[in-house]
Amino acid sequence: MMLIPTHHFRNIERKPEYLQPEKCVPPPYPGPVGTMWFIRDGCGIACAIVTWFLVLYAEFVVLFVMLIPSRDYVYSIINGIVFNLLAFLALASHCRAMLTDPGAVPKGNATKEFIESLQLKPGQVVYKCPKCCSIKPDRAHHCSVCKRCIRKMDHHCPWVNNCVGENNQKYFVLFTMYIALISLHALIMVGFHFLHCFEEDWTNLLKAYGLNREEMAEAGISLHEKMQPLKVSSTECSSFSPPTTVILLILLCFEGLLFLIFTSVMFGTQVHSICTDETVLCAARRSVMQSKC
Ligand SMILES: [Zn+2]
Ligand SMILES: [Zn+2]
Repeated sequence: MMLIPTHHFRNIERKPEYLQPEKCVPPPYPGPVGTMWFIRDGCGIACAIVTWFLVLYAEFVVLFVMLIPSRDYVYSIINGIVFNLLAFLALASHCRAMLTDPGAVPKGNATKEFIESLQLKPGQVVYKCPKCCSIKPDRAHHCSVCKRCIRKMDHHCPWVNNCVGENNQKYFVLFTMYIALISLHALIMVGFHFLHCFEEDWTNLLKAYGLNREEMAEAGISLHEKMQPLKVSSTECSSFSPPTTVILLILLCFEGLLFLIFTSVMFGTQVHSICTDETVLCAARRSVMQSKC
């Protein structure tokens, strides 16, 4: 694959015709002060709703399938508080990441007056975005979904329906961390639930026959054989029927594993990019262009 030299890419932005401020329309009338930042992108809104739905689904299964029917109140209360707190923090950081201006450069500020007001030294180059007509500060990139130039743009994330940039990266990092934690917590609880319910069914079966484990083992009685006529259900482990419980728990396991892997990788990438002070977009571009972004 042929590598694009660095100067070629930057020259596109330095073309004289792009730097003519006369071509810029005046900046649009600014909205009322304190207007909420929200990207009207159908795909992003759908993904954000799916994210909320998946967290609420996990909340439902954890509470109504695992914790509330449990007779171990201490276990239920402690896990309920931890899980709900993490879920609340995950959704709160999701809202902040979605509704915070990621660092948008003022639109249409590449006017003659503004460039003159910068008092540039002779030979100093300013970068202008031809798409949103703004003067691009260093490390700002144009996002085609947000239709704005974003300072220190990392990437556009449809799951938070926003760009991840200078102002909202911390909320995004917190969001990935809390989702990874609730996924891990839910998986551990599902593991305990399966173990506990299996143990409980086994004990109930023995009680029903008035036997203890050793006697049953000596008699060579098969658990499977005895369960057929007795139909011992696991209703004490869940208020739902056993098949429904198993389906709900398997779906939660699948969701938990998927999100744990995805958000852990994302969290690690974000922390690495913060430590090296380099955005994901920069790293990708540098690997293609072999130059510092
Ligand atoms: Zn732009
Ligand atoms: Zn964007």
